[in-house]
Amino acid sequence: MQAGMVIIGAGECGGRAALALRDLGYAGPVTLVGDEPHLPYERPPLSKDAMTSDAPEIKAIASDALLAERSIRHIHSVQAVAIDRTAHAVRLSDGSVLAYDKLLLATGSTPRKLPMPGLGSRCVYLRTFSDALAIRAHLSPENRIAIIGGGFIGLELAAAARKLGAAVTVIEAQPRILMRGVPAEIAEIVHRAHEAEGVTVFTGKSIADIADDGVEVRITLADGQQIVADLAVIGIGAVPVTGLAAEAGLSIDNGIAVDATLRTDDPDIFAAGDCCSFPLAIYDGRRVRLEAWRNAQEQGALAAKNMLGAGEAHDAVPWFWSDQYGLSLQIAGLSDEGKSTVRRDLGDGAFILFHLAEDGRLVAASGIGPGNAVARDIRLAEMLIAKRAKPAPEALGSQDVKLKSLLAA
Ligand SMILES: Cc1cc2nc3c(=O)[nH]c(=O)nc-3n(C[C@H](O)[C@H](O)[C@H](O)COP(=O)(O)OP(=O)(O)OC[C@H]3O[C@@H](n4cnc5c(N)ncnc54)[C@H](O)[C@@H]3O)c2cc1C
Repeated sequence: MQAGMVIIGAGECGGRAALALRDLGYAGPVTLVGDEPHLPYERPPLSKDAMTSDAPEIKAIASDALLAERSIRHIHSVQAVAIDRTAHAVRLSDGSVLAYDKLLLATGSTPRKLPMPGLGSRCVYLRTFSDALAIRAHLSPENRIAIIGGGFIGLELAAAARKLGAAVTVIEAQPRILMRGVPAEIAEIVHRAHEAEGVTVFTGKSIADIADDGVEVRITLADGQQIVADLAVIGIGAVPVTGLAAEAGLSIDNGIAVDATLRTDDPDIFAAGDCCSFPLAIYDGRRVRLEAWRNAQEQGALAAKNMLGAGEAHDAVPWFWSDQYGLSLQIAGLSDEGKSTVRRDLGDGAFILFHLAEDGRLVAASGIGPGNAVARDIRLAEMLIAKRAKPAPEALGSQDVKLKSLLAA
């Protein structure tokens, strides 16, 4: 009997890959294994709309009916615990064994743990719908929320908590918020927006001690200052989930190491989404790992294609967005590839920073503004980045020159 395709991790990437296999006409067995009790779902709403809703709901990527209609077997609440590469089989935590022809690891990432003693039940992380529900219960005007880490998830959560009336303090150890991948000029605007909404933002402050008695969390900063909160949410980044792959002897390099076709060093095992690192063609094969929604979707679809033998290389421009209050921030490409920047003002306080490499190539664009103000131009910038274009800096900076015309050139 045909073993078929097995996907470990029923998140954004795994869910999309399962559907893509059917879209591509694959008729054999498709099994999606996830350790969460839910249908595959979108995580971005967890720190945004779902967090401010009265009754948070899962935004499912596929309903039970769709999975059934597509003959996708979804095994939930069960963990894959070992891969036997010789036997082409995966052992699950319920004792069962699944045979595979091709295997996709879409195990995602998990919050980086704060390596400090003193953390208790009032110190939590945000990754899953269950985490979101537990945090949501504390977001009310009577509560004080401390957010440890001024990254995207922490800041989005801060905005949601303010919307629900909680008192919010953000503690960031780095000299500024959004240190990773966001230009200082844009981080400054986000910082000011939080302060204007009543968030206390500490930067350059490390934590000396945390005492959590299950009712309150007392955070002592290195300078002696104390912050007392009803809940502390720790958002200090994420680490790829690689244990299963590592134990199976697959190469790990800041994630499960795959080639441009998302194949691991076992020809029958692929990895995609947050859990993998891959060579990015537009930056001459620089190995990266992305924690981004669109990347998880794109790689899920590509992994499905390549499990069916297409051998196609991933060649997409990274793209990320974050919404906080009325502001939307979007980044196309990796800004640290740039050596200089050119600013284009779009009106209403919106602007885009174009990041240029030494040879003048456009390598990234970071934009911020109200609502959808930067979306169209970031999309065009993304196309210029994909084309490896070298637009004249004066043209990029001038509102009188349409980005579309640069694309045509
Ligand atoms: C709160 C939050 C907000 C976000 N907001 C944005 C945003 O605004 N913009 C953006 O671009 N990105 C955002 N992201 C990132 C985006 O959601 C992720 O990049 C995306 O979910 C990655 O998809 P994935 O399938 O690789 O991993 P995941 O969605 O994490 O799915 C992996 C799944 O695999 C399961 N799993 C792991 N190991 C096993 C095992 N051994 N057996 C069975 N199951 C296993 C995990 O439990 C999980 O369910 C956000 C993420 C979070 C958490």
